[in-house]
Amino acid sequence: MFVLNNILRKNIANLVPYSSARDEFQGEASVFLDANENAFGSPLEQQFNRYPDPLQYRLKKRLSEIKGVPPRNIFLGNGSDEAIDILFRCFCNPGVDNVILVPPTYGMYQVSANINDVAVRNVPLTAEYQLNLDGIAEAIDERTKLIFICSPNNPTGNSIRRADVETLLANFNGLVIVDEAYINFSRQKTFIQELTEYANLVVLQTLSKAWGLAALRVGMAFASEEIIDVMNKVKPPYNINDASQQLALQALDKVDQVNQWIKEILFQRDRLVLALKHFDFVLDIYPSDANFILVKTTDAKGIYNFLVNKGIIVRDRSKVGLCEGCLRVTVGTPAENDILLQTLQDFK
Ligand SMILES: *Cc1c(COP(=O)(O)O)cnc(C)c1O
Repeated sequence: MFVLNNILRKNIANLVPYSSARDEFQGEASVFLDANENAFGSPLEQQFNRYPDPLQYRLKKRLSEIKGVPPRNIFLGNGSDEAIDILFRCFCNPGVDNVILVPPTYGMYQVSANINDVAVRNVPLTAEYQLNLDGIAEAIDERTKLIFICSPNNPTGNSIRRADVETLLANFNGLVIVDEAYINFSRQKTFIQELTEYANLVVLQTLSKAWGLAALRVGMAFASEEIIDVMNKVKPPYNINDASQQLALQALDKVDQVNQWIKEILFQRDRLVLALKHFDFVLDIYPSDANFILVKTTDAKGIYNFLVNKGIIVRDRSKVGLCEGCLRVTVGTPAENDILLQTLQDFK
């Protein structure tokens, strides 16, 4: 059975979190002389002289309406990359615990594990880019704390079978982290609705991809209140700056614009797939539930360098296991996709 206290690091369980000036006073006041800010203002039109809301209450409230999750089940990070790092710091003892990754997958899980000195047990996806459940079961031991599942998966683009993820959730006594950075482009259902079912589920989403706000650095983790409380205890007190909080709030009112873009991106993705198929150097294009496609080619390095010389940058994934010969191509605007396809005509 999953018990959060069994996987929580002792030092984190005992941690007394930093208490900011704004944490200590709750209520109405008009003279704030508690935080050593400059009371005169900021040398800008917009004022940033006050520390931001540490728990981002207004932003979470708006996200809670959109996602159908209470604010107490939402953690906000400086990008979902921060949420990934904080999960390691809350649950993995350096040099002692391990996590399971299922490559090819998002590179940040491995980097965060390395930074935190946490061992990684790699259980590669199958040839169909699905979970090897037997392999994962074998790799789990009593020191395995986290399993990261990216769905739709970066860089392969496909979604991971829901029933397989549920098998892990039902049987693993650590956390199963489902990274849904690309969920807005997918017809698959989010795992957010399973939060009431599985106490060991963490769902990651981000405003960086479909929402078009990569530079604001706002990532979300959805989980039980107990998990969210631990993450909030460990995060830097002011991890989301006030400009990002305000601008994200404004952007969340433009859901129609974002949905319009998503439609156009999916249309452009289909168009890219159809056009790329005709090139002799394209061997395969994998089905994608995301805003990018993984293209298997006869000469990934050659095509990559050729495109770089023409000022077009794609991602060379050909050195990644199970991605031999593959380039990852993000879907661009119609004009950008035109340029890509036109330029590729000249590759010999
Ligand atoms: C892009 C990406 C992220 C990064 O999200 P940020 O919120 O920008 O940190 C997380 N997970 C996956 C799988 C991604 O591809």
